[in-house]
Amino acid sequence: ATPISITVASGRGAEVGVLFRDAAAIEGLAHVDVLVLDKTGTLTEGKPVLTDVLTVTDVAESELLTIAVALEAASEHPLARAIIDGAKSRGIAAPEVSNFAAVTGQGVRGTIGTALVALGNAALMESIGADPAPMASRADALRSQAKTVMFLARDGHLVGCVAVQDPIKQDTRQTLAALQAEKLRLVMLTGDSEVTAHAVATQLGIDEYHASQTPANKADWIAAAKAAGAHVAMAGDGVNDAPALAAADVGIAMGNGSDIAKESAQITLVKGELAGILRARRLALAAVRNIH
Ligand code: ADP
Ligand code: MG
Repeated sequence: ATPISITVASGRGAEVGVLFRDAAAIEGLAHVDVLVLDKTGTLTEGKPVLTDVLTVTDVAESELLTIAVALEAASEHPLARAIIDGAKSRGIAAPEVSNFAAVTGQGVRGTIGTALVALGNAALMESIGADPAPMASRADALRSQAKTVMFLARDGHLVGCVAVQDPIKQDTRQTLAALQAEKLRLVMLTGDSEVTAHAVATQLGIDEYHASQTPANKADWIAAAKAAGAHVAMAGDGVNDAPALAAADVGIAMGNGSDIAKESAQITLVKGELAGILRARRLALAAVRNIH
């Protein structure tokens, strides 16, 4: 690309909310053949809503939500917002939690009174000796509707689960189809479960996805793809996505996401719309081909 074509692409990008950090970001994006996508906040709105509360016998829904909201009050995860708003609208107040700990990619735990409580995925339950199996089939039924399920344990016993739904961004499906038509290989990487990931991928026509990925797993997948000769762009929004954004040839931060994601990326899509990726790619291709 000539200096003038880079300047043109930067200027046009800025007009439509596509911010390229530098010339290398434009040239890099033009050469990408794999586009890795985070699910939550990238393909979806990142604004999950509490939809289901399931309890084991003897435990009241309000009891379950009381534990959940108490734990999430101290969390900054997007899932926490769904629980807090859901509990509030049901008139549930949050008691004090002590010994709070957030386990990255798994959930949250702490103490309420004398009870040890935890909320998160199956891996978190297993790590504290609570078997999620009694709710596994109900959890999978919710996940197959593309919902995210979180299990709740008290004193090492499973007491229930909650599910949230995060709407898919309005422009996602159409944009992915256009990106595929332009010969980009799409791969979704998510920390969410296999069944939820499958449901979302199917709705969106994404053939390749990997579920239950930690932030480090996402970065490793990208490093391996690069080592195999791929030119990789990664689009993400979360604090969690920063290592993967940094590992990619071109990191693309969704403007609706965290500042850490933006700092780790070469391109920022101001409006957080997925269509920004398509715009960015077309501007980059035009720049390297010297078409104004
Ligand atoms: P994503 O890749 O979708 O951003 P994360 O890696 O942050 O997901 O989390 C993976 C899984 O861990 C979530 O789907 C959820 O089950 C669980 N989890 C993480 N943080 C929390 C939290 N604050 N509360 C409840 N569950 C959580
Ligand atoms: Mg995300």
